[in-house]
Amino acid sequence: MSLPVVGVLALQGASAAHLAAFASLGVDAREVRSREQLTGLTHLVMPGGESTTIHHLLELFDLRREIVRRHRAGELAIFGTCSGAILLGGDDGEPPPRLGLLDAVLERNAYGRQVDSFTRVVRLEALDAELRCVFIRAPKVREVGPGARVLARDGDEAILISGPGLLAATFHPELTDDSLLHTYFLRPELWNAVAPVFSVG
Ligand code: GLN
Repeated sequence: MSLPVVGVLALQGASAAHLAAFASLGVDAREVRSREQLTGLTHLVMPGGESTTIHHLLELFDLRREIVRRHRAGELAIFGTCSGAILLGGDDGEPPPRLGLLDAVLERNAYGRQVDSFTRVVRLEALDAELRCVFIRAPKVREVGPGARVLARDGDEAILISGPGLLAATFHPELTDDSLLHTYFLRPELWNAVAPVFSVG
């Protein structure tokens, strides 16, 4: 298998911490701000930040169409974290418009305001591991279609889901020093199947 070529969307939000997480794994990830920087990538992280702002910048820099095209062509795996996860999902009737790649719908700011942000150690069932998860004005997964599967929950809430070539976390895996999910993302054979692990009740 050829080596992954990894990029982190760096329009707004928590891109630096993702780059550092990959660097800690010895992976030289590149910042992506232009269509040219997408060329040759096999893996792209869409970080947390502010989804409306990231949406506008994706349009402004003409990145949205190319990300969607390369993903649909099976060339680009994408890991969306927090805002990135919101944007990967389908529309919920609220701004911003979503990319509609992941068969799930996420509601922005569904835990409340900034002060309702929290950190919790969660057991990630599908990975058979525990991870300290940082939730910052996090979204909640409101719908999961047959094209996606829930890999982990915190209580009743789905917090990690996958789809073909897609991984989405409602929290910030880059803000702790455990690079478990960055390692996981680089091995799509571990998460790329569609068969459900859990179903959403
Ligand atoms: N509340 C932000 C949004 O709507 C997401 C927050 C985050 O990425 N930490 O996009």
